[in-house]
Order: sequence, then C-alpha cells, then structure tokens
Amino acid sequence: MRFVASLAMVLALTIGPRLLVAQTPPNVVIVFADDLAYADIGCFGAQGYQTPHIDRLAKEGRRFTDFYVTQAVCSASRAGLLTGCYPNRIGINGALGPASQIGIHADETTIAETLKTKGYATAIYGKWHLGHLPEFLPQRHGFDDYFGLPYSNDMWPHHPTAKFPDLPLVSGEETVALNPDQTQLTTCYAEHAVKFIETNRDKPFFLYVAHAMPHVPLFVSDKFAGKTKRGLFGDVVEEIDWSVGQILEALERLKLDDRTLVIFTSDNGPWLSYGNHAGSAAPLREGKGTAWDGGVRVPCVARWPGKIPAGTVSSTPWMTIDVLPTVAKLAGAPLPPKRIDGVDASDVLLGSVNGPSPHESLLFYWGNELHAIRNGRWKLHFPHTYRTLDGEPGKDGQPGPYRQEKTELALYDLVEDIGESRNVANEHGDVVRMLTSLADEARKDLGDQLTKQIGKGVREPGRGKE
Ligand code: MG
Repeated sequence: MRFVASLAMVLALTIGPRLLVAQTPPNVVIVFADDLAYADIGCFGAQGYQTPHIDRLAKEGRRFTDFYVTQAVCSASRAGLLTGCYPNRIGINGALGPASQIGIHADETTIAETLKTKGYATAIYGKWHLGHLPEFLPQRHGFDDYFGLPYSNDMWPHHPTAKFPDLPLVSGEETVALNPDQTQLTTCYAEHAVKFIETNRDKPFFLYVAHAMPHVPLFVSDKFAGKTKRGLFGDVVEEIDWSVGQILEALERLKLDDRTLVIFTSDNGPWLSYGNHAGSAAPLREGKGTAWDGGVRVPCVARWPGKIPAGTVSSTPWMTIDVLPTVAKLAGAPLPPKRIDGVDASDVLLGSVNGPSPHESLLFYWGNELHAIRNGRWKLHFPHTYRTLDGEPGKDGQPGPYRQEKTELALYDLVEDIGESRNVANEHGDVVRMLTSLADEARKDLGDQLTKQIGKGVREPGRGKE
C-alpha cells in the first residue's frame, strides 16, 4: 500500500506539473474599443500617432486581417461578441438608447457565464450597452464586477443634435455619477482593470475592458492631450494604447503572461460623418452602419505566449461570435444550452496560419435584413439600401450628412479587390448561386426582412418589467 502511494506520488511529481499546466484554464482579457476602425492601430497602418503596446501584442502574437463583427453598430456588435450569437437571433439590434426597455434575455448565456462554470473571476469595465435596466446589467449576466457607462458616451448631453437625460456612470448596479468627466474614463477603466488582475492573480479570470473611446464625443486626459499629429483622435487612440500597456505591465509584473490570452479588437468601423473625429477603414469600403467591410471588418490582434506563434499574420475569416466557443474550449467549459452561431476557432487562434475558416459562410445582417454573405474570398451583397457620406464629412465633433444609396446584387473578390469596388457577379455565376443557396438556408433560420421571411430559430430579447 505504501509502495502504491509512493508510486502515485512519484508519478504526480513527474507528470503532475505538465498536466497541471495543460489543465489550468487560461486567463482571458478582451479589450474592445468603440468605433476604432480597421486602419486605426499602427500594425494595421495608422498614420500620425503610435500604438506600441497594441503593436507589441501583434509582434508577440498574431494579427488577424480578416476578423469581423456581426453588425457594424454598438449594441448588436456587443451582443454577438458576448453571446456567440448573431444579434438578430437574440433580438438585439442597433444601438439601445436611454429609453430602451430591452436587453439580453436572462436565458441567453454570455462569455462570463460560460467561464463562471470553471470558477473564473469575471469583470467588465467600460461600456455595456446590452440593456441598462437593472435586470439586464452585467452582474445579471455572469460578471462579478462592473464599472462603466451602461450605453454610449454620446447618450446624450454631449450629442450635437439631440437632448436626452443625464448620462449615468454605474458601479455594480448603482449610479455613482451623472455626466462624468469623460477625460478620465480611459484612465479609470485601466486602473480598474489592473486592480482586478492584481486581486485575482491566483485564479483564472475573465476581464472585459470595453472602452468608450474613440466613439464621439472624443475625450482625452491631460496625459495625452495635444500629443499627436493626428489631433484629438490620435491622442485618444494613444491613450487607449497606453491603457493596453498598463494591462500588459500588470500581467508581466505578476508573471501571468504565459497563462493569459489577450485579445484586442473593436466593435465596428469608423463613424465617417464625423470626419477628423472618426478613424479610417482604408483600404476598405464605407464604415460604421453598413455591411461593407469598412463597417464590419475590424483590426484584431491576440497574444498568448507559448501558445500563439509570435509575429504571425492570419487572413482566415472568422468573427466575434467565435470568441465564446473558442475560450470555452480553451477553458474546458460547456457551451451555452441554447443554440449559438459561433464555432470553436482555436485552430485559427493557435494553429498554423491561413488554415480554413471554421465557417462555411459569414452573415452580415443590418438589423433583421440580410445584406451580405462571405465565403472564402467571395462576398455577395444582396440588393439593399445603405448610408454613404453626402459630400464633405463633419469636423471637430459635428457630423456631416449621410444620404441613402442602393446596391444591386453584387459579388466581390476580396483577395483581388479588398475595397469591394468591382462587381464580378456576371463572371462568376456559380459563386453567386453557391452564396445565394447558403443565404437561403440562413434565412430559414434567422429570417430576413428584405425577402419577408421570419426565421424559425430567432429568440426574443429580454423585455423590461415596466
Ligand atoms: Mg461602436
């Protein structure tokens, strides 16, 4: 008996540490910028300012050139990231305003709830925007801690064309200030993030930092005001980059680098009508509020030392909805009980570059209208109306006008034509038929207002009790 016990101990000592490493779920940090566009960080071509800390993530990890959000607007995009569902599946469309009475349904499962099943500590600092009534706030959806704005930072005293109630700053479920000094938000979120990492250094954690910036109105602290050639927008992005540096410094100091996956990305492309207060999606077409790549394709970098090969670049198409099933896989956590749309993309994240997409197709809805679908190099737009700048954009915080434009059925080869400028539908009828068929299947499940179809698989959002 003693021999068996000793043998067990020897075995534990020899193979235990390796098993322990393999079985220790990674910490997960997601930094989600707001309206930060494809070309707004250094390693994606930003001009006139620097983002050394985000670029460091790319250098020590992987840069994803074909990473997408589900819809190019705040609430819908966040719903996709946090639940792994196309937002129209769960009834969260557009940007929920201060008068909205809906939020994520209690029966939906977020990344935080998924990782809670494996004992993670969880926190969100920043913008929630998935329902601001008490029953929808983050602590009802798996987050232990919350500090931030419940919706967009322009809602609304600062909005140039609308007047709404005061903007609340929320801690837990309490409003702790009205119309907070937004010059301090980025710093404040960084401080909360670092404190959370320090507090939870000994257990797995999920930290979601959802910056208010660089969504208009832009604000920056004195530390960064006037620092860049790009003006206030560049100053604001440099401060976001600094905040990423604060998180990386904390991980390094606490020796958590090797067991922490850090992902940096954004919720949608540039709000082009704001001109010099908006970013750039170059060389992609259009911006926020459209299904063109300038709206839905966002910069993304991820680092996990020893797991993600350093300095690699992947052009495999994948999407925010894949983050939940991917981190669930890495943590050994069960998937949500209800059907989700995301799939495990751990091969895209950790494996060899440019492997196959985990999706047969990526869908780009706007609200409940299916505007476009991507398969491999091909993207097919269905006839729809979209917004485009009407003349010159605005300046210094004032928006310029949009007009509505129509597109016909149009096929683009994103490898040859990243700017979606040359419709090749007539030359590739077989591709059009293939994508049309995939879209027909999707419509049966998710519906499509453009073709007047109700989806069999759509669910209701949560509705307020009032
Ligand atoms: Mg946004």
